[in-house]
Amino acid sequence: MIRGRNLRSLTVTQDSLSLCYSQEIGEIRAKTVYGVDRNEKNLTFGNAERVIQLDMSKTVSIRQTTREIVGSFKRNDVRIRRKIASKYWKRANHRTDQILHAATNLVVGVALRSDAAIALEDLKDIRKMYQKGNGQGTGYRFRLNSWPYGKAGKMLEYKSAWKGVTIISLTKSETRGSSSVHHACGERLHRPQRGDAVHARMLWCQKCKVWVDRDVNAAVVLSQRGLARFASSLPRPQDGPQPTVAREEGLASEAMKGNGTTTLILRADASKLTGGAAVDRPPNGPTS
Ligand SMILES: [Zn+2]
Repeated sequence: MIRGRNLRSLTVTQDSLSLCYSQEIGEIRAKTVYGVDRNEKNLTFGNAERVIQLDMSKTVSIRQTTREIVGSFKRNDVRIRRKIASKYWKRANHRTDQILHAATNLVVGVALRSDAAIALEDLKDIRKMYQKGNGQGTGYRFRLNSWPYGKAGKMLEYKSAWKGVTIISLTKSETRGSSSVHHACGERLHRPQRGDAVHARMLWCQKCKVWVDRDVNAAVVLSQRGLARFASSLPRPQDGPQPTVAREEGLASEAMKGNGTTTLILRADASKLTGGAAVDRPPNGPTS
């Protein structure tokens, strides 16, 4: 395994073996930028031509279930209760980590294959939106705080560095309004009316007269903001989005045309993509 690599250190202890090696990575000249939108429901990434949306709701439901189980413990002994609780949380974290790994591997893999840089939003202050004293219920706050935004960002950063994919960390001012303007025209988007279940997670553009998926739109806007960062070093983007053929090998997804645009949207459940081998699994195949 280490043949041909530059071995830096090798540490053997009673129960572990750790080896560090370095590897030359040629920097990939990005032809495009994929914006990544992270929220508690999904991870959406892509550009105006193609967007891939991964369902991450499982990471939240795992934590919610664990919280219910731990909350139902009736034992009087606090120490034992804590011990059992920590066991459950450890398992929950392990499971969500696996989902995050699968999702971030996919993002970096797709970016690598399409010579794309990845534009990330600065989410440092996101927890402040859902903290105590904001007048939100504990269950709501728990759910909104359950998605590991930071962890996903860290994984994308180190995996990209390892593969030579460029990460563009957008600043707060660079991402201002990214979730509220239409990527195609720059017009401010409108929320659906209360009780409009058909257009949940959609926004209306009065100028283009279309409903857009708010997460898909945010990812495309972030890709445009990332592109603006180093526009001079990139080939000129085409005037209109060009439809491309999706070739995500076996990605269990439903491909669809974005509303009113030619953006191709692929959807998949991130919890079904374990490792990377699972990407080849048929849509209704057995899951572990
Ligand atoms: Zn518009």
